[in-house]
Amino acid sequence: MSGLSKAKRLVVKVGSSLLVGEDGTANGAWIADLAADIARLRARGQQVLVVSSGAVALGRRRLALPRRKLTLAEKQAAAAAGQSALMRAWEEALEPKGAVAAQVLLTRDDTETRRRWLNARATVETLLDLGVVPVVNENDTVVTEELRVGDNDRLAARVAQMIGADVLVLLSDIDGLYTADPRSNPKAEHLAQVTHLTPEIEAMAGGSNAAAGVGVGGMATKLAAARIASAAGCATVITLGSRPSPLAAIEAGARATLIAPSTSPKAAYKAWIAGALVPAGTLVVDAGAAQAVAKGKSLLAAGVRRIEGRFDKGDAVLVADETGREIARGLVRYEAADAERICGLRSAAIEGALGYTSGPMVHADDLAVVPARA
Ligand code: GLU
Repeated sequence: MSGLSKAKRLVVKVGSSLLVGEDGTANGAWIADLAADIARLRARGQQVLVVSSGAVALGRRRLALPRRKLTLAEKQAAAAAGQSALMRAWEEALEPKGAVAAQVLLTRDDTETRRRWLNARATVETLLDLGVVPVVNENDTVVTEELRVGDNDRLAARVAQMIGADVLVLLSDIDGLYTADPRSNPKAEHLAQVTHLTPEIEAMAGGSNAAAGVGVGGMATKLAAARIASAAGCATVITLGSRPSPLAAIEAGARATLIAPSTSPKAAYKAWIAGALVPAGTLVVDAGAAQAVAKGKSLLAAGVRRIEGRFDKGDAVLVADETGREIARGLVRYEAADAERICGLRSAAIEGALGYTSGPMVHADDLAVVPARA
């Protein structure tokens, strides 16, 4: 029911309570079991990215910090000592399954500032294409309180959005969403499927129910994550992580809540390009290129007549025809000075002119076509 078996890209978020045992050390056996579960998906050709908490919990014990509430600096110190232990645990679990783990530490800026977002996205995409399992966490050691994402549910949703994942799995200590807190209310009913995140559903995760599901993120943050994912075209599955092979269990129909996406990842990405970015310049194109772009093809340098404005590689630009009509918006692959030098050149001549090539001026995947007016 979850679409898990058909997903091309999955983000699996694992909470501290699953990763770290009572004694404050990594739960090696459980992580190894999840690694086997992940290896099974990879063997089917699916790409898996892990968002892993646990740095602070592991570091606390390594640094023998007191049991009281830690100061921010202590927490950041714990994260530094714990993050390396966390990666060791993931490496020890994934390597025997033939998978290389790669540490990716992100801050909120990386998912919100466009240039950093594009850079982080390119790195993570490269890792996935190389067959690596990226293990993502927030860069707790350096990020200040105001600039934190704060919880890994939301971080995982942002990452899912960034890489156009189709399924986000939140492995939790509760098997999904309930109409009330099942631990205090015997009448609480489990919700297997949520098609729309209505205000009623949102309200269920508030109040006393907000904390159900533990860790930093209770139900409220899980729903906040699901909202981000849904708008990015990604389904969210919330389920119990403590059972053996939790991903296989989801496929076998174990109790979980599935929150449906409200769009497709591709449509969400194009909407982001079309609406959320301020264009830094314009590429004026000839009639042939205008036609090709309108049909969803990449914009080649050969069809670009001239450029306007100052932009960097990765910036949003307008694509306009020679009458000034806007045809599309897209992310340009060359900075303005280089774009200027290759205007009108055939693709094969770009390398000779610049000493490198980044392919088309704007790739079809990064182009949002403005619908033609009737
Ligand atoms: N980034 C934190 C850690 O690794 C966890 C945050 C969370 O669990 O939501 O300790």
